Parts: sequence; structure tokens; C-alpha cells
Amino acid sequence: MASLERHRYAVELTVAQPAARQRVSLPVWIPGSYLVREFARHLHGLTAQQGRRACATVQIDKCSWDIECDPRRPLVLRYEVYAFDDSVRTAWLDAERGFFNGTSLLLRVHGHEQGAHALTVLAPPQRPDWQLATAMTPQAVDRRGFGRYVAADYAELVDHPVELGAFWSGRFKAGGVPHRFVVAGAAPSFDGARLLRDVQKICEAAIRLWHGAGRPPHRHYLFMLNVVDEGYGGLEHRNSTALICARGELPRQGAPASAARVGDGYLTLLGLISHEYFHTWNVKRLRPTEFEHYDFGGENYTRLLWFFEGFTSYYDDLLLRRAGLIDDAAYLKLLNKNINQVLQAPGRRAQSVAQASFDAWVRYYRPDENTPNSTISYYTKGALVALCLDLTLRREERGTLDEVMRAVWRRCGGGPISEADFAAVLTEAAGRDFGRELADWVHGTGELPLRELLESQGVTVSEEPSQWAQVLGLRVGEGTGGISIKVVLDGGPAAQAGMAAGDEWLGIELPPRRGAPAIPPAAWRLMRVDDVPLYAGATRRVTALVARDKRLLRLPLALPRQTTTWRLLAPSGGSDRATWPGR
Ligand SMILES: [Zn+2]
Repeated sequence: MASLERHRYAVELTVAQPAARQRVSLPVWIPGSYLVREFARHLHGLTAQQGRRACATVQIDKCSWDIECDPRRPLVLRYEVYAFDDSVRTAWLDAERGFFNGTSLLLRVHGHEQGAHALTVLAPPQRPDWQLATAMTPQAVDRRGFGRYVAADYAELVDHPVELGAFWSGRFKAGGVPHRFVVAGAAPSFDGARLLRDVQKICEAAIRLWHGAGRPPHRHYLFMLNVVDEGYGGLEHRNSTALICARGELPRQGAPASAARVGDGYLTLLGLISHEYFHTWNVKRLRPTEFEHYDFGGENYTRLLWFFEGFTSYYDDLLLRRAGLIDDAAYLKLLNKNINQVLQAPGRRAQSVAQASFDAWVRYYRPDENTPNSTISYYTKGALVALCLDLTLRREERGTLDEVMRAVWRRCGGGPISEADFAAVLTEAAGRDFGRELADWVHGTGELPLRELLESQGVTVSEEPSQWAQVLGLRVGEGTGGISIKVVLDGGPAAQAGMAAGDEWLGIELPPRRGAPAIPPAAWRLMRVDDVPLYAGATRRVTALVARDKRLLRLPLALPRQTTTWRLLAPSGGSDRATWPGR
């Protein structure tokens, strides 16, 4: 840690047996987050030496360098990395805390990727209270965790992020395996015991799902949670996860502990924890064949994120139910939200989840105002594909998706899988071919048979009046300044009227009263889209007054009759039901 205040790590890299022209590079992306992020833009001051002799370094491209050296002598590189991104994907350093992913800090030595690596982290002398947490294998470390760690290859080295600071730390066992949870930045009211208790239940439910009473594939596991004022996210690793959440989401001492009263914020955090932990199996071990060896230099394409992210999203909430942290009604509320997100995105008719997976690098991870029209989330629709498969299997009494997931694990030995593997396992486990369903649901853009499948489980689908932004096909921001249009959904009345993202919707004007054209039309200032029916009443054709680039526009807007949004109601029998979603 070269400077806490200047957010800089100093790195010294020794290559014992370099090539005569040794190439080194920094990854352009971090596995699990499918966007080229160009980590090398924060690397500076690269020098190379052999003994006291300086070696020439030549930059080859945005992230690679060649070093001319003597292959008979060790090569030592030195450089600094600026680290001031408070996310789970890169690196951070200040006077309060440090965190880094190897993909941000540790150069890849070409030709030596498959060889053993060692990482030594030195404690910052000015912070004797700091500790180090990582799931990497320790070789010689002190009581605080500083010292030397080892990894079998470069991919393993960079799959173990490192947390530094005076963090809170707790431990529990699940499935006989030690788990550690470290939390940085929590408020004094944080109820650590409650968090450990609840997370332990989630871990046990996950292990039970994959292995029954057997042991999981990991021998230890580390959760690293960074608590900030506003934030949400997680990134999965083979034996650990890095998480970020808002301070208000943590459980507080003295708060009620009953299952039915998990606060929405804490529930969001538990869902995130459940999601990342499920990835320990689904994407870190079972993974697309394309990810068997990552290419750290560019995009790594797969059509299977609907399985690895979508099925993980299906199980993250379901495991909260299985762990007894929420009841059926609370589970259905989460599922309901997911369903409405898909049903309110016209992009589900533009791309299949397989195409959306492939395009993740330029669509999902680079959203703009047209994203809801041009693609569909492989998280949300992928989760619904899992739901449809699970409920179809259950309705036809052909087993459950749990059994299929276990069979996939067995067939692929917890390693790379292809879509053909999944289809074959499904056929075998269910005793019939699911080719038509996979073609429609995964590779098609039609509607999923959600209603009939939910009803087959006793869930009632009721239709309730939609919010008016939804009725008009808009996503908006509403505040004291009025309505700002963020997204215009394809096929909706707002799109037909010619509204555009970036418009300020100022008001509506009603047509002149019949037989009284000389009287000026009534016009109303609009502050909330839900006020449209208040002013329009039974009038079906109004004029929307809109500002675009400071020009005032009058757009003819046809108001449709009210549309509806789904609301799921739990089957009678409540939480005592012995079937889905409880089991
Ligand atoms: Zn995920």
C-alpha cells in the first residue's frame, strides 16, 4: 500500500525465469462481469530490472508490454496502480479500507499462466489495526492475515479478491465447512449475530440442494461485504464473494427477528448473498465450455448466461424460502416483481435469452434508453425459464428442477457444460424430450406459459390496474421539477405520440369543448403521470405539452383504457404446504 491518501498500491513482480522478450499484460475484464473495463488505464510507472540493470519496456497495446531481458536471470517489474473505485469489480484504497481484485493489480506473465504463483501482501505500517481477509491459500501469514499466499495458476490467483482494513468478522459452519463473513463500513447498530444466523441457513439450503447430506465442493468460504451509503452488487469467485450493500440494509440490533418481518432492504441483501453463494456451483464450477480457460485479453462469448445467471436468480429467492427466512407470500412477492419486469419490457420480443447472453458485453452491461426495447435481461427472463421448467416437471410429475441441477452436476463432474449437455440431462431426468420448450423459451421470443403453470401450483394470478406510466409505455423520473422521460417503450401510446427519452413532460391540454371552439382549451400542469386521468377524465384524446432541447412541442396523445399488472396470491394452506415453493 504505497499511499492510502493517494489511493495507490505499489506492486513488485518477480519472474524467476523470464523469456528473452517477456510479454506481460493486465486483463481487460473480470470474470463474472461481462464488460471490457480496461483495468490497465490505472497502471502507471512500469519499470523493469535485472539486478541493477534496467531493462527496456515497450508498450504493445492498451494493456500489454514487452520487456527485453536476459532469460537466465530473474526479472523484477515495479509499477503502481491507482485504486479509487468503490465497486466489487476493481480496486480501492483509502485511509479506511483496502480491497483489490487480482485482475486490477496483478500483471499476467505470458507463458507462465499455468504455473504456480505466490502473492505477498505487506501490512501498512501506519495502520496496526488493519487485517487481511482472502480465500487464497495461505503459506506464511501472520495473525492479522498479512504475508505470503499461493495459487496454482494465474486464473486461481486473480479469483481471490483481498479485503484489507479494520473490518468486522464472524464465522459459522455450513455442511461441515467453515465459512467466514467480514463486513467493512457497518454502522454501530449492525446485528452481526443475526446476519451470521440467517446466512448460515441460506448456505445450508444451497448445500442441501446440490448434495443432500453430502459435502460441498469447497473446503472453506469467505463473504466480503462492503457497506456504503448507497450501493448494491456482488461478484462471485470460486471460494469467496465480494459484496456491496447500503448501510440501511443491514439487520439492526433490537429489530424483530420473525421470518415474516424481514425488512425489504435486508431481504434484498439476503437475496444477493444467496445469489452469489449459488454461483459457487453454478458458473464457478459448472460453467460454459467457453469459460473453461478465460481469455483475459478480450470478450469471452457464451449463449448460456440464461442458465448461469437466470437459473441462479431463480434459486436465490427460492433458497430464502427453503431456508425458512420468508414465507410463501413473501416469496411470491419477489417472483411477482421479476415477472412484471419481464412483462413490462418490450425487448423480450426483440431478443431471446440466448441472444441476450451472447450480447451481454454490449447490451446488458452497457444499458441506454433503448435497452428495454432492444434486449431482455437473461437474469429475469432466465429465472422465469427456470420457473417454467420446474413447474412443468412438477405438473407432469416428472420430478423437479432440483433433481435436474444435481444430474447436470453429476454428468459434467462439476465442470464445463454445453447447452446439449443440459438438454440431454433434462431428457434423461424427466423421461421426455424438452426440445420444443427449450427452443421456445430459450431461443424464442414468444410469451412463457407463466399463468397456467402458476395456477397448476394453486397460485392465483389477479390483474390489478397498472401505474399510468406503464399504461402509456413510459419510464419516468418524477420530482419537484416535474416529469422527465427516461425510456419510451416500443408499441405504447407515448411512442405513438412521438415522445422521446430526455423530454420533460410539462402538461396536458384537453380538446375544446364541443360546440364551443371559441373558448380556449383547458390545459394542466402535470407533475405526476398518475395524475393524467385526474385531468383527462373520460377524454380519450389529449395533447401532451413537452419540452425537448428547450423547444415546446404539442404531441397528440391517445389515452388507452386502463391496462393491468399481475399480482400473485399464495395458495391457501399458507406456509405449511409440502410442495413448491417450500420444497
Ligand atoms: Zn450472478
